[in-house]
Amino acid sequence: MNRRQVLRWGTLLGGSLVLASCGLNKVTVFEAGPPANGLGALAVSSPAMSTTTDWKAQAPREAITLLPARPTRVIVHHTASANVSDFSQAQAYTLARSIQQSHFDRGWSDSGQHFTISRGGYVMEGRHRSLDAARGGTQHVRGAHCEGFNDVSVGIENEGTYMSAAPPTGQYDALVRLCAWLCQQYGIPATELYGHRDFVNTSCPGDLLYARLPQLRRDVAARLGVSVRVWPTTRSGQSGERVRSVQFLLRARGQNVAVDGAYGSGTGTAVSAFQTSAGLTPDTVVGSATWERLILTVRPGDSGDAVRGVQSQLATRGYAVTVDGAFGPATESAVKSFQTAQALTADGVVGPNTWLALVE
Ligand SMILES: [Zn+2]
Repeated sequence: MNRRQVLRWGTLLGGSLVLASCGLNKVTVFEAGPPANGLGALAVSSPAMSTTTDWKAQAPREAITLLPARPTRVIVHHTASANVSDFSQAQAYTLARSIQQSHFDRGWSDSGQHFTISRGGYVMEGRHRSLDAARGGTQHVRGAHCEGFNDVSVGIENEGTYMSAAPPTGQYDALVRLCAWLCQQYGIPATELYGHRDFVNTSCPGDLLYARLPQLRRDVAARLGVSVRVWPTTRSGQSGERVRSVQFLLRARGQNVAVDGAYGSGTGTAVSAFQTSAGLTPDTVVGSATWERLILTVRPGDSGDAVRGVQSQLATRGYAVTVDGAFGPATESAVKSFQTAQALTADGVVGPNTWLALVE
């Protein structure tokens, strides 16, 4: 849909926004579990969107780079600016111009992000040509929003600071609509929506907006009419049983990594190597796409590190199993008990749904 909004300039609010932009930096992708019906059942249309022309952007200071490949994930940011109560379109346009100017001031060629959503829920093109690229669905505008991942990710800035406040409903709904459309246009699985902090040392997109990303993935999947498994994002600096599961599975996949429950550089190297071998973008972040490739279905009679991973999870949860890598009767009994407790089919086979319940 070519829905270009015509801007009627009314009285513009003066004053410039101070944008402590979320910093620049990085992210990942997946094939959401198999869609329930084989493919996205629902075609979604582009959200109403204002172009760079609409909000009177300045011309970019260098040529925009169009890459001949689809991006593989969407990265969500917050602008770290004030949680304004002005939800008007005029405010949205003022915001867009302010961001562009602040990015010029950093020496960048244009707005770093591809799209911007105001607190009032107005969706705007950020960097020039981003909208046409997404409409075409085969090219990606190189952005400047996540260092190391600008060639493979679409960046969305959400106006506000979401460390202790949640985004307004209208803004969140616009984010769902925009993400669903981008996923459709680029063939990005609905699970491959990440936060800036997943790839860089930053608080962006704020604790509350970040905490809502699993729901965002589910909401986007629902809008697209697909069924997905949303896995917990596991990455550098984390520790605990979930990290041990990743490490056991990496070993089962032939990677040489110690099982210590701490996600350090060795684990990151192994994750990247595995991702490369699986045809995924090597970003060290174990999101849904990576989990889906990493897990191995194990059943009675099996042995090895994947079985150890299951046993270690069960033991941590208080089940009477020995972490010996041999899927015997005691392990089978514990698996069935766990499956029953989780309202899963108690068949003693640890497939994707049981793995997800174990690592959640
Ligand atoms: Zn950010």
